[in-house]
Amino acid sequence: MRRIQHFIDGELRAGTSGRSSDVYNPATGEVQAQVDLASVAEVDQAVVSASAAAVEWAESSLTQRTQIMFRFRELLAGRVDELARIISSEHGKVISDAAGEVARGLENVEFACGIAHHLKGEINEQVSAGIEVYSLRQPLGVVAGITPFNFPAMVPSWMFATAIACGNAFICKPSERDPSASMLIAEWFIEAGLPPGVFSVVNGDKVAVDALIDHEDVAAISFVGSTPIASYVYNRGTAMGKRVQALGGAKNHMLVLPDADIDMAADAAVSAAYGSAGERCMAISALIAVGSVADELVEAISTRIPGIKVGAGDEPDAEMGPLITGEHCARVAGYVERAQEAGAVAVVDGSQADVPKNGFFYGPTLLDGVTPEMECYRDEIFGPVLVVVRVETFREAIDLINSNPFGNGTAIFTRDGGAARQFQHEVQVGMVGINVPIPVPVAYHSFGGWKSSLFGDTHMYGPEGVRFYTRAKAVTARWPDPSSSQIDLGFPRNN
Ligand code: NAD
Repeated sequence: MRRIQHFIDGELRAGTSGRSSDVYNPATGEVQAQVDLASVAEVDQAVVSASAAAVEWAESSLTQRTQIMFRFRELLAGRVDELARIISSEHGKVISDAAGEVARGLENVEFACGIAHHLKGEINEQVSAGIEVYSLRQPLGVVAGITPFNFPAMVPSWMFATAIACGNAFICKPSERDPSASMLIAEWFIEAGLPPGVFSVVNGDKVAVDALIDHEDVAAISFVGSTPIASYVYNRGTAMGKRVQALGGAKNHMLVLPDADIDMAADAAVSAAYGSAGERCMAISALIAVGSVADELVEAISTRIPGIKVGAGDEPDAEMGPLITGEHCARVAGYVERAQEAGAVAVVDGSQADVPKNGFFYGPTLLDGVTPEMECYRDEIFGPVLVVVRVETFREAIDLINSNPFGNGTAIFTRDGGAARQFQHEVQVGMVGINVPIPVPVAYHSFGGWKSSLFGDTHMYGPEGVRFYTRAKAVTARWPDPSSSQIDLGFPRNN
């Protein structure tokens, strides 16, 4: 059985805790590897190595950092297929989708290649006679990233690219369900010339997460995952005096107005609800149909669903793969069953779909007649289940979205610029799409939701990522003529 170890101090390290976890091939249901789960002592080894590396790395020149990041970018860009295959085999998503994830991750590396520009400070000359004030941003030291299963390459790259380019050492704790992508990235960074210890991977579960949060030499924690764990990590981390950004779960609404192009809206809904089997934090999981559009839209979506090719990720024509585990598959099935008991209508029932029998497959599902009180609307199902809520007015639709505890992404489909403008202005959600169903910002903007979808102040990557992974220093300087020196016990005044 293949064993997935840790990557500490620039090399593979076998785990010594005696604990491990199964890594499945979700398309067959078989265990394909075992990943070592770190103990507190192993996390400490990684932090000790990273702390030593961080001191030298912080002194590296921007030119050195940029050159290494460029080399890493070239390696990654040339190995998209290799990474996509390993992601697909452990996560289940189809290879083309996995390649898309790597491409979006690559954008963050490209952003980091321009770090010199983003770290420019500001200066005021002559704030007082002969005095300059300037601001610098300096790295934090050792920072850790704890990542979810659903984007095993892209989400780590939201963190490590900026963290490392800013001069920090980064420790990644990937999901124990699909850890191999991070391990490959760690090896490729060494190949690109990154000094050992600047990028480490500690595999593990809650034990490793808690040890990273509690370690006094870890300065900041970035987390992406479900809301209960995001809240836990944020509270525990900030109680330790650390800087924490913790992104949580989502229930992303797509609002369709009666004037929308029905075919375009239906295509978008199908793509955004069922791509990656709905296991995306930006997946559309609730469709809000306003007024007369509902019947036509439900019909258009339901006629498209049978055309979705469900299969193993490495099948050339597969469009939707399996779910991550058998347990999660059963959880999704339970939601669909209970929704029908509560009165929702399964226009398309995934449990009846013709999907591969081995593996953790569940067919695309469309539930109509859903009301906001129903569990299938309230909870993040994280599977290929789209619920339709019918409302009478645009106002009702906005109020419904704003009363939802999550606020990650949302989209409006309309031809009415005024309605889109009002929606963008009033909706209490961090990322908004206008006729764009999955509005993941490009790497030079930042990513983050509102409300229960994000704990902390800073969004991830882009300009906010630079701020998160650095701290500001303001310098007040003068180079006076020594003959002008005198004692003055008053508070410094400018004149
Ligand atoms: P998860 O919360 O179960 O796990 C995320 C990470 O936390 C993993 O590394 C895991 O090992 C660790 N973890 C799990 N339980 C823990 C515990 N009790 N204590 C400490 N650490 C723990 O999430 P997941 O199932 O891997 O990923 C899916 C979730 O992530 C969904 O809710 C999805 O919406 C969310 N997500 C959000 C975003 C976003 O940008 N907001 C992006 C991707 C995924």
